Amino acid sequence: MLAKASIAHSLAEVRRRIDQVVARSNRDPSTIRLVAVSKTQSVLSIEEAYYAGQRVFAENRVQEWLAKAPALPNDCEWHLVGKLQTNKVKYLDQNVAMIHSLDRFSLLETLNEHGERHRMTWATLVQVNIARDSAKTGLMIEEVPDFLDSVGDYPHVQVQGFMTIGALEASPAETQGFFRQLRCLRDTLQSRKWSGVDLRELSMGMSRDFEIAIEEGATLVRVGSRIFGSR
Ligand SMILES: *Cc1c(COP(=O)(O)O)cnc(C)c1O
Repeated sequence: MLAKASIAHSLAEVRRRIDQVVARSNRDPSTIRLVAVSKTQSVLSIEEAYYAGQRVFAENRVQEWLAKAPALPNDCEWHLVGKLQTNKVKYLDQNVAMIHSLDRFSLLETLNEHGERHRMTWATLVQVNIARDSAKTGLMIEEVPDFLDSVGDYPHVQVQGFMTIGALEASPAETQGFFRQLRCLRDTLQSRKWSGVDLRELSMGMSRDFEIAIEEGATLVRVGSRIFGSR
């Protein structure tokens, strides 16, 4: 079973590289979590990663998550990344540990309504479009304070930090600059007290740039293809 050996191997390699950059940048290893982005991957592939010790996974389509999650061990921790349609929110339940893509008021409202109805509170990250990339969703930096002002009106939604996606065409130096901006935004806003807001998490870095993200303070790195192979 070549595929089996290879996912475990790739995962070990990603972990080794995380450990290296953590040591080099003097970070506390317990503050960084690897989120294995399992979108488009089969249950079998996700199981391989699970048996190699991985517990935190992320999907980007609610229907796909609904189909796969019940087939996997129930100590998997599921995150959602990518654009979340408001009409899919009704399918979410307490098995969603974190939503990385809170990017608009209508989603805040819909999550709150669904949470109120089912007595659940969602852990979310506000997605910020640091690269000002028109192809990506997310709030512009200057929109973030107003957005956080209103979170307290939606008690079934908690904001635990920020998420961003680096620009595909950016150089490593530019990517580093984007990640640094997100961390600075967090550091600046952290001292303000908003109800329902605790900015401890920074979700940034994917297969191509997770090491830079850790250097810049990421607490969650979202790695897909480098673990599971290309999609
Ligand atoms: C697909 C995806 C990832 C993982 O991307 P890779 O390049 O495969 O590591 C991370 N974050 C988001 C939001 C994604 O949609």
